[in-house]
Amino acid sequence: MKFQIIPPNPYLRHGIRASCPDTPPQNGVAERKNRHLLEVARSMMYTMNVPKFLWSEAVLTATYLINQYLIEDRRTGKKLGSGITCNGLWFLDRGLDKSSSALAVVTSEEEGRLILQHCRLGHMSFDTMSKAFPDIMSKVDKGKLVCDACEYGKHTRASYISRGLRSILPFLLVHSDVWTSPVVSISGMRYFVTFIDCHSRMTWVYLMKHKNEVLKCFKDFCACFNTQVRIIRTDNGTEYVNNEFATFLSAEGILHQTSCPDTPPQNGVAERKNRHLLEVARSMMYTMNVPKFLWSEAVLTTTYLINRIPSRVLNMKTPHEILFGKNEFIVPLKVFGSTCFVRDHRPSVGKLDPRAVKCIFVGYSSMQKGYKCWSPSERRLFVSLDVTFRESEPFYGEKTDLSFMFEFNSVESDEARLEGRIMV
Ligand SMILES: [Zn+2]
Repeated sequence: MKFQIIPPNPYLRHGIRASCPDTPPQNGVAERKNRHLLEVARSMMYTMNVPKFLWSEAVLTATYLINQYLIEDRRTGKKLGSGITCNGLWFLDRGLDKSSSALAVVTSEEEGRLILQHCRLGHMSFDTMSKAFPDIMSKVDKGKLVCDACEYGKHTRASYISRGLRSILPFLLVHSDVWTSPVVSISGMRYFVTFIDCHSRMTWVYLMKHKNEVLKCFKDFCACFNTQVRIIRTDNGTEYVNNEFATFLSAEGILHQTSCPDTPPQNGVAERKNRHLLEVARSMMYTMNVPKFLWSEAVLTTTYLINRIPSRVLNMKTPHEILFGKNEFIVPLKVFGSTCFVRDHRPSVGKLDPRAVKCIFVGYSSMQKGYKCWSPSERRLFVSLDVTFRESEPFYGEKTDLSFMFEFNSVESDEARLEGRIMV
């Protein structure tokens, strides 16, 4: 059973959670205690904008509060009990709220762990999870595992079931398609183009401000690999069917296959991949109330995840494994859209200033080993490994209307549009 012990006082709560669990041992009990007291005091002062000259009062209050605790279920936030600490021992108050049964938490612990893993993995289907994690899945009743976000996010049409045909070599055939978003993303993007290697089903996504950037993206994609692309398969969109594109393809010796007009299923692999990307992105956004202008980050995170998730078409291997020989996640997975705190290492941070910046977790960096965290208040994107996560806590409290991901012409509110246009 996993639970966390936190102080009942809201001020102190900030302080305890802000303390970094990974901090290396320092020079003794007193030094640790001082740091702890200062952390709590700083958090209290920050919460209520207390001026710095009142630091002494904050430290005294922190000393008093530090001896009281509340025990909560880590996953649900359900209160299990309260108590005090004295000389290093924990004393549980048995009189508190008998309705909060700890047993109920124990029985659903495995399910809770699986649901958390399901969210971290971009809402991987429970069938796939059974194959990927047979040990854990065998301990729970699969019928009991339900996920609202999957219901809202996924609307697969039976007519698009894959035939599972693959080319025999990597980069022999590349599928491509463009998706148009009705909402400008946080980085000013309106479209994305996918390139999918038919052999491994490895997917690359490029965000674009204009549709005519497709050729530039394709050139970048080709330049990334030594192997030459032989065939590109697309629909008849003008972003693919134009003189400039044709000139590049003939210079590189690449054959262009297009689908017959009005028969999109012929470009099936790319269309199915787009649908899959959007389904997962929608589910992740729904789970954590992520606003629309972060669709670009959700799609990039989804691409990262589905490239590393086993697929039936690949006999339960992952695209990354087929192409590069091994599957790897650069950093441990976290729930997209959850609240996180990034350690602030800037030299301008004073002794009594907050030591962390509250952010929303928006994915994994492709350039550096770290988590991408966006601070709306500072309008800044951090890439860091020094991050504390609250995976059960959405950064945005309100449920977001995601109907735009189903309809292509919905109208945006001014506020969301403005926020979405701000560049990071
Ligand atoms: Zn789900």
